[in-house]
Amino acid sequence: MSNIKVLKFGGTSVGKPSSMHMVAKIVTETPGPKIVVLSALSGTTNSLVKIGEDLTAGKHADASAEIESLYTHYLQFQDKLVQKDVSKAKAQYVINEHFTFMRSLLKVPFNDNFTKELLAQGELMSTKLFSIYLEEAGFRNAILPALEFMAIDENDEPNMDFIIDNLGTQLRKHPEEELFITQGYICLNADQKIDNLKRGGSDYTASLVGAACYAELVQIWTDIDGMHNNDPRVVSNTRPVAELSFDEASELAYFGAKILHPSSILPAKQYNIPVQLKNTMEPEAYGTMISSQEKNKTIKAIAAKDGITAIKIKSTRMLLAYGFLSRVFDVFEKFKTPIDMITTSEVAVSLTIDNDARLTEILDALEAFGSVTVDPNQSIICMVGNDVVREKGIVKKIFDSLEDIPIRMISYGGSKYNISVLTETQYKKKALIALNKGLFGL
Ligand code: ADP
Ligand code: ASP
Ligand code: MG
Repeated sequence: MSNIKVLKFGGTSVGKPSSMHMVAKIVTETPGPKIVVLSALSGTTNSLVKIGEDLTAGKHADASAEIESLYTHYLQFQDKLVQKDVSKAKAQYVINEHFTFMRSLLKVPFNDNFTKELLAQGELMSTKLFSIYLEEAGFRNAILPALEFMAIDENDEPNMDFIIDNLGTQLRKHPEEELFITQGYICLNADQKIDNLKRGGSDYTASLVGAACYAELVQIWTDIDGMHNNDPRVVSNTRPVAELSFDEASELAYFGAKILHPSSILPAKQYNIPVQLKNTMEPEAYGTMISSQEKNKTIKAIAAKDGITAIKIKSTRMLLAYGFLSRVFDVFEKFKTPIDMITTSEVAVSLTIDNDARLTEILDALEAFGSVTVDPNQSIICMVGNDVVREKGIVKKIFDSLEDIPIRMISYGGSKYNISVLTETQYKKKALIALNKGLFGL
């Protein structure tokens, strides 16, 4: 293990000049060598997505208007970020360079590669602007270009060997530095083209960077004081959870706790690097510590994942037949669509997917097995804690809380960390509030 720390700051943490100043304070007061991973300024990636969609749809006037309004935002941002003329000139140069590229997209036939390049502009700008501010404030720093070391393979999985080798090469270029800055979210794909780790991917970058340099700690700095026991966007009285194990945090992230990218805990778990969740606006708050330690065998938090489609395949051929499920799973494998939940009875199997991009092809293939029904607009509600399935009376508590909610599926015992139920998204809020009361007394 090295003594490097990785500190990741999300969009809201760098969204205003005053917040970026706060980030600089946190970073420069953290002792020892560190790699700072930055997201784009809040709102930027949404805006870039919109520009990409407009360009794809041939709506050039709309794209141009969005580019110009973003440009104005960045000019105002830099004006408050830095004070000295020389810093302002540097910041404006950076902004102009990136907006010249964006404007050039109005004049070329647009394609998917340009979309990815467009989406990368946010992190490329935020890191350069932060570096200029640090320099003005008298702090030496070096930018590690993520596109030189962060890479995914043909299955969109991180290419860990490449990341380790190339991050090492980049770090060795600056033997004198202790403060490094890199872009979250962006990477190269198997075709060596610019790509990204999907929305919210800067958390994933931080964990991958932490793993690749055997960091002693990864900190994810955001706009809330850690992982809360329930979704604070939906339920009003939630509270932070002080300690979570890697497995608990992974389940919560995968099942919808937006504070963490769904895959972001996996590299940290694999390399046993603790991950701390902290609030940029309230640095003294403890936050959440995620580590290999499994404490308190009880439900610690609930998360919900929307956009779930449930599929039921009913077939008398399933009765007493072996190999049936395997043929069903083959269909999902063929169309590269992961299954989240599954329940079976003698003659039917129900399962859920969160990506319906290939639903039509999947349904066509499943018709061969029996009658197929589809329920869109479902949510998985996932209750997470160590050894939760062994907690006495827990199931009664859950179902007492959910007595007024129509439940479509239940998953219990599949993992020792989670109990999940599936319900229509229209009942999600009611269910989360009821569970908050029933399980946490809140
Ligand atoms: P960042 O821009 O820093 O990456 P995100 O918006 O991606 O921030 O993540 C932080 C947000 O995650 C919080 O503001 C909160 O609304 C949301 N969130 C959802 N579920 C949880 C949870 N269980 N605990 C804490 N925050 C959560
Ligand atoms: N800027 C990217 C997004 O908004 C990545 C991130 O913030 O984590 O999705
Ligand atoms: Mg995020």
